[in-house]
Amino acid sequence: RIAAVDGQVNAFLHVNAEEALAVAAEVDAIRAAGGAEAEALHYLAGVPIAVKDLIVTIGQPTTAGSKILEGWHSPYDATVVERLRAAKMPILGKTNLDEFAMGSSTEHSAYGPTRNPWDLDRIPGGSGGGSAAAVAAFEAPLALGTDTGGSIRQPGAVTGTVGVKPTYGSVSRYGAIAMASSLDQIGPVTRTVLDSALLHQVIGGHDPRDSTSLPEPLADLVAAAKTGNVEGLRIGIIKELHGEGYQAGVENRFNDALELLKEAGAEIVEVSCPNFQYALGAYYLIMPSEASSNLAKFDGVRYGLRVLPVDGPMTIERVMGATRAAGFGDEVKRRIILGTYALSAGYYDAYYGSAQKVRTLVQRDFEAAFAEADVLISPTAPTTAFPLGEKLDDPLAMYLNDVATIPANLAGVPGLSLPGGLADEDGLPVGIQLLAPAREDARLYRVGAVLE
Ligand code: GLN
Repeated sequence: RIAAVDGQVNAFLHVNAEEALAVAAEVDAIRAAGGAEAEALHYLAGVPIAVKDLIVTIGQPTTAGSKILEGWHSPYDATVVERLRAAKMPILGKTNLDEFAMGSSTEHSAYGPTRNPWDLDRIPGGSGGGSAAAVAAFEAPLALGTDTGGSIRQPGAVTGTVGVKPTYGSVSRYGAIAMASSLDQIGPVTRTVLDSALLHQVIGGHDPRDSTSLPEPLADLVAAAKTGNVEGLRIGIIKELHGEGYQAGVENRFNDALELLKEAGAEIVEVSCPNFQYALGAYYLIMPSEASSNLAKFDGVRYGLRVLPVDGPMTIERVMGATRAAGFGDEVKRRIILGTYALSAGYYDAYYGSAQKVRTLVQRDFEAAFAEADVLISPTAPTTAFPLGEKLDDPLAMYLNDVATIPANLAGVPGLSLPGGLADEDGLPVGIQLLAPAREDARLYRVGAVLE
């Protein structure tokens, strides 16, 4: 399937056919032999998976969608990848993304854009457009993404797939190349809610190698997805996250979802999160600040690309400058500059400090909302997939896409986006987002299963 369609979709940066087939053959042989070993096979053994190329893997390149890591191989596996291997899931390859996961369209990849399988002239969302497109185009049944401000959920929404951002700390970040460490989470990209629960259960749980990893074991997410019951549950519509600025077809499918939930016995309430209007602004200060620091390690010495200055003295600073000038794309440079500025002496309180205060206010909005509702609901993105190139030269328009997904990252709460049907105007997929309190990921699956 990858050979048939990926020439058009460009979801994969690297295809790991040989190793994937070997793992599949190994699982087949164990099954054929029967006995205790066959019995002990994991429920996902033999089910192939695609991995976002921000997550490090032994035996395959990891580029982060950047020229600066072209040809670089990690000497270790991310914890989530170790867990896939332990379950004997064949890893199909690495998927395309906006460079260092910065973007909402996958157009900022140094290796060309991924296209939306629903309409090849439209974006598949970002930054994890490759994982979402691979699943939507039936190139992979399962994929992994990372979500710092919506990069799992928004691509899910615009490609008609399911994407989950788990509670911060509930899935190990060890081996996910850091973008903004206080916001990043790895999570599943799949075709059904149950598939996401099955995969989430494999990758989640404590990891001593991630200092922010939560100590407690995961709840039974698979059971929650199978139960799918909203009887008596209070579902809160976030007043600030729909209506004005949202495409009519998105709004219609959102209303359909509310009707479905009502019919299934949920109580629909309205909640207000007045500080969400500042979340986008806070995010676009906090995220670049953390990223500017995280990306300092790409210095032309330790990893990947090294570019020597054409003339003049060969100092370490000049090698670093030449490497970073050639290796990073425009969006990455923009954010490094933004972040460095926001963190600089004299501006720190005005920008980074204020953004952190807004972050606290967003967290309080969630606390208040979750006192009135068990699960919150909104459209995942304000519009369906937009045409390639439409927002490429307008960073602010691109950033505005994340308005509904960003609050969850600022607060660390889990979110799930699932297909809500097609928009009337353009026949393209609409995503519905569910949000739950931290550590209550199971609720997302319980409600998601009803909406599917
Ligand atoms: N679109 C957001 C950004 O550009 C989110 C990115 C992400 O979640 N990795 O920052």
